[in-house]
Amino acid sequence: MKYVEEFQNPEAARRLLDDIHATVTRPWALMEVCGGQTHSIIRHGIDQLLPDEVELIHGPGCPVCVTPLEVIDKALEIASRPGVIFCSFGDMLRVPGSDRDLFGVRGEGGDVRVVYSPLDAVRIAQENPRHEVVFFGIGFETTAPPNAMTVLQARRLGVTNFSMLVSHVRVPPAIEAIMRSPECRVQAFLAAGHVCSVMGTGEYPDLADRFKVPIVVTGFEPLDVLEGVRRAVRQLERGEHTVDNAYPRAVRPEGNPAARAVLEDVFEVTDRSWRGIGVIPGSGWRLSPRYSEFDAEHRFPVSGITTREPAACRSGEVLQGLLKPHECEAFGTACTPRTPLGATMVSSEGACAAYYLYRRLGGTPASLEASPVA
Ligand code: SF4
Repeated sequence: MKYVEEFQNPEAARRLLDDIHATVTRPWALMEVCGGQTHSIIRHGIDQLLPDEVELIHGPGCPVCVTPLEVIDKALEIASRPGVIFCSFGDMLRVPGSDRDLFGVRGEGGDVRVVYSPLDAVRIAQENPRHEVVFFGIGFETTAPPNAMTVLQARRLGVTNFSMLVSHVRVPPAIEAIMRSPECRVQAFLAAGHVCSVMGTGEYPDLADRFKVPIVVTGFEPLDVLEGVRRAVRQLERGEHTVDNAYPRAVRPEGNPAARAVLEDVFEVTDRSWRGIGVIPGSGWRLSPRYSEFDAEHRFPVSGITTREPAACRSGEVLQGLLKPHECEAFGTACTPRTPLGATMVSSEGACAAYYLYRRLGGTPASLEASPVA
């Protein structure tokens, strides 16, 4: 497959690994920001092939995992209402709220539907004019543009029974929060290439400069990840801290100006709580007041939510790179993809799910269990 197989070439991978082994002289800790990169790393065993000195710390870039519990509980409440058709991508359906998930709501008679595009939700709204149709709009800078476009399309089509429950998050403020944490061990970042394909690289030089940390924009195939690691290690060994684009086939410095313009029109920056981490200033997007008629939080005021995280779940530490998933006591025992305690065991981009799918934990091989991908 073009643009995939050539980035999985074993000989090229060996050459990159040889270069990294030859370059490294002391321990370094690198964080891959995106959950997609985490899955690539664990799936291909990249972390096991790197020199012992190079540690990969898994970051908070799994959109499903960081969606705050309050928002999940809000979604559950809205989806339970009579006359509501609640639409979501499939991986949100098994994310545990305080006492159930969206599958549970569906089992209790709620009309919860899996869609493959936010535009599907607009079509469902047109087909069901007596119902209120709500789309669950979550994710990073990657899923925000199509969601913003969907709001524009709903307005253009005059669809008044459509709204969106928005909980978008932004990467740069999360990098800043990680660097400000007193427990931070991260010395370089592999930035998420797909986020930068939308937003460009302009938000990163200031972070690299202020925190003296190399930021290498990195893709997702094995050679992409190895090239990102190679460039980050080279900078660290030289004492440099610049922004380097190792994913030029997808990322331009200016990103996608059309997508950015739509984002700026439809959304506005807000403080956002990240599940397991807490509030990060300026780290989210919500609908702009110009589009408030499409805001499900306005249309369905939900109050009195009291959230309850399972005490055993340490996903907050996993998401901050302070704990590897298999170091959680519940990993593979009380918490499996079939009985997830935290969102990081549910999502196809969650670090706990990646460890469960591709690693072993003694006992039953992970491959005998169901896929965590909803
Ligand atoms: S293994 Fe399960 S309980 Fe432990 S941190 Fe991950 S999701 Fe939470």
